[in-house]
Amino acid sequence: MKSTNNIEFAAKCIQEGKLVAFPTETVYGLGANALNPLAVAKIFELKERPSFDPLIVHISTMAQLETVADNIDERIYKLAEKFWPGPLTMVLPKSSIVPDLVTSGLPTVGVRMPKNEIALELITRSNCPIAAPSANKFGRISPTTAAHVQKQLPNVDYILDGGKTTVGIESTIIRLTEIGFQILRNGIITKEELEKVVPFDGSSEVEKLSAPGMLKSHYSPRKMLLIADTELLHIEKSKAGLISFSGKLEGGYLKVIKVSQTNDLKDYAVNMFEAMHSFEDDPQIELIIAEPVPSEGIGIAIMDRLRKAEYDWREFLNSSYGADTL
Ligand code: AMP
Ligand code: MG
Repeated sequence: MKSTNNIEFAAKCIQEGKLVAFPTETVYGLGANALNPLAVAKIFELKERPSFDPLIVHISTMAQLETVADNIDERIYKLAEKFWPGPLTMVLPKSSIVPDLVTSGLPTVGVRMPKNEIALELITRSNCPIAAPSANKFGRISPTTAAHVQKQLPNVDYILDGGKTTVGIESTIIRLTEIGFQILRNGIITKEELEKVVPFDGSSEVEKLSAPGMLKSHYSPRKMLLIADTELLHIEKSKAGLISFSGKLEGGYLKVIKVSQTNDLKDYAVNMFEAMHSFEDDPQIELIIAEPVPSEGIGIAIMDRLRKAEYDWREFLNSSYGADTL
């Protein structure tokens, strides 16, 4: 594996227009100089990501924010003070130095300051903002370790290994309206936390707002994944792996990964993609069952990821055997 932690070498790669996978607190990112369209094009190519899906630009200082965004609202500074560095992406009017390829032609750009020392140092040493989506193939399971990146993107120029990520799911994405903020993607920073700083604009439902690139299917394992909170009668548990939260379903499964020892939803977020990778890689496992959690607080972001991971498999079952097969 070409992963070590030579940040200086990684920064040189970025300056030369190459791609570097690096840890953030959310998931591993696949980074390129955000101001170099040729480097950015390589991200889309390596990930096989459609060009209509815009990239988030990562910065390490507030001064850098002012180079990539224009007409920055006062409320952005308030939110940044509270949540940056951290897992919050804010969509802002883009400045002219940001190539259209980064934003998929939109007049806005998603910006985030990650809370990870390696990521911040990489950005600072590269001396440019870094465009980075998750370091996986488009639509597949997000990477939370360097090994996950190596598995899906073996041809990346360099991988910075910072161990397992501490949040485990992608950032919350918001944009501002005259009234307040709207959530484009749920994450570990919840509506309730954001509301303490800026009012919530509930005039449009999240589903209707969904940002470009937000698809029903995403984070999808190569093996069938189904969400189930009761015993399933028609599956062979002896060939299935269970992603367990409460512990109530654990009997009879070939393997069980309990994502939290203390019933903490944050642990579910931290460990869910790793559990999916582990079952995907395990030749004994044919089916993955994931336990759902209530859709409130962080549970909203967890259920969003689980539903997208399940989507193609559920569609397949419904079209093959009719709705509500299991
Ligand atoms: P990720 O795949 O985690 O890098 O997140 C990228 C997602 O951020 C995209 O799929 C979009 O949904 C969202 N996004 C990025 N830039 C913008 C933008 N300018 N406007 C709205 N959504 C954006
Ligand atoms: Mg992604």
